[in-house]
Order: sequence, then structure tokens, then C-alpha cells
Amino acid sequence: MAATWRLGCRVLLPACGGGGLMSASQPVFKRVVVKISGEGFCPPGGFGIRRAELDHLAAEIDQVAALGVQIVVVVGGGNFFRGDRFAETLGIALSTADYMGMLATVLNALALQEALERLGRATRVQSSLTIARVCEPFVRRRCLRHLEKGRIVILAGGTGNPHVTTDSCAALRAAELGADVLLKATKVDGVYDDDPARNRQARRYERLTWDQVIDNRLRVMDVAAVDICQQHRIRIIVFNVFEPGTMRRIVLGEPLGTLVADASTPRGEPEARGGGAS
Ligand code: UDP
Repeated sequence: MAATWRLGCRVLLPACGGGGLMSASQPVFKRVVVKISGEGFCPPGGFGIRRAELDHLAAEIDQVAALGVQIVVVVGGGNFFRGDRFAETLGIALSTADYMGMLATVLNALALQEALERLGRATRVQSSLTIARVCEPFVRRRCLRHLEKGRIVILAGGTGNPHVTTDSCAALRAAELGADVLLKATKVDGVYDDDPARNRQARRYERLTWDQVIDNRLRVMDVAAVDICQQHRIRIIVFNVFEPGTMRRIVLGEPLGTLVADASTPRGEPEARGGGAS
């Protein structure tokens, strides 16, 4: 999803400034799911994968891994193919186009794996679509085992089902893997009350509730994904992945980006969810 702003939401208190200065060195999350859209792999409005963006994403993930945090990355595929956009123009069934979109996510996953391994990180790619020659199938217990061993797991193939998106996949995996937070990487530093590119007065929300996002149809993630997060009480933090070091600072507890959770949920500490994964 391209932007994270919307006009005229009056119910919330926007943030008044930057993230503040904290010098914590201990992560406040043990296990994170990071959702990276395909657009993160290429220049704005571009297509495919560019080395600069790829290496930048890998470096940001590497910094978080260096803190000892378990990381699952869910990659999108919109930089290559979006089912709903191409089904009509190509005259193909939406389900088929969606499978093509899911395959596109595999391209990003494999590229990210290589970039992370160039930095010396151990990784595994797991896919919801079985492509045995290039990656493992997604198996929850196996994924958890990789995380325990310090491997970064990159999830490809979305949910494996058409008619949904990788946002929903990220929410579902965050729930079943017992992640403390879903980090939604974007090109904007949070959710705004207007388009910050067009309105210099636009203000960033420091926090929102899941209901506020759903009811006001704020463009944070797909509504279905936010709904899953609400059901499983998974925090979402929307942040700018292209601001170097931001993901690391968030994991260290700095109030950057926009937090989506209920009013009583703390920004930082891992939430007890009775057993870790549902
Ligand atoms: N897709 C799908 N099911 C999924 C995940 C993705 O059908 O569980 C398809 C869908 O066509 C989508 C495309 O894959 O348009 C690319 O995924 P997405 O739009 O989530 O990528 P992003 O916008 O994050 O780059």
C-alpha cells in the first residue's frame, strides 16, 4: 500500500514532534515481523529490484538482527506484479493474476536473502507456495526453530491464497508465530492526517487504535490485516524504512513512526499472549 495518510480524521491526537532521545541498548521486542512492500525494493514509481534499495533494506534488517532480535520478514511483490491491476489489463482470471503476484514475492525474497547473506547473516526463505528447488515450504514449527537458531526467516508467497495480500500474510504470521509487533515498513514516517507530500501542515499520529484505523479507513495496511492484528492484539508500528537506523531505534523503544494498538497497550515491552503463539 503506497501511502499512509488520509484526510480529515478528527478523532485522534497527532504526535507533536520527533522521536525523542533515548539511549537504550536493550531491545524491547524479542520477535518481530517486518512487512516490506515490493515498492521498497525499487526507486519511487519504479519496477523490479535496484541494488541501492536492496542493500539498504538488508542493512536495516542487519542492524536489528545485531540486537539479538528474532526477525521474520514478509515481502510483497508489487514492484513486479499486482493481481488486481493486471487481471483486467491482461484479460486473465483474478485468481491466476494473484498467483502471479505471489510468485513475484519470491523474487524479492531471494534477492533479500542474498543481500543479507552478503552481510554475514544466516537466513532461510520459506514460501507458502511450494517451490522446492529454491526455498523451503512455510512450516510454522520449522520457522520457529530457525528463529531460535538466530536465522532471519524471509516469508514469500504471501498466504498462498488469492484474493488477499501480503499485509494479511504478515498479520497472520505475526499471530501464529507469536510476534511482539508487526513493523510495517513504508516510505513515510507514519500515519498522517493528510498527505505530507502535498500539505506541509499535515501531522503525524503518534498512536491510533485498531478501531480508529478500520473505522476511518486509514491507509495503514489492508483492513483485513488490521482486523487480524486486532483480534490477536498485535501491535503495528508504521515507520519509514528509508530513514537509516529507524527500525533499530524502534526496536530499542524509541517512539518513532505511528503505533497502532489499543489505548492501554504499551509501545515497548513484549505483550504476554499466553504461550507466545496462537
Ligand atoms: N497475493 C495474493 N495472496 C497473498 C499475497 C499476495 O494473491 O496472500 C498477490 C496479489 O495479487 C498481490 C500480489 O500478490 O497484488 C503482490 O502482493 P502485495 O500486493 O501484497 O505486494 P506489496 O503491495 O506489499 O508489494
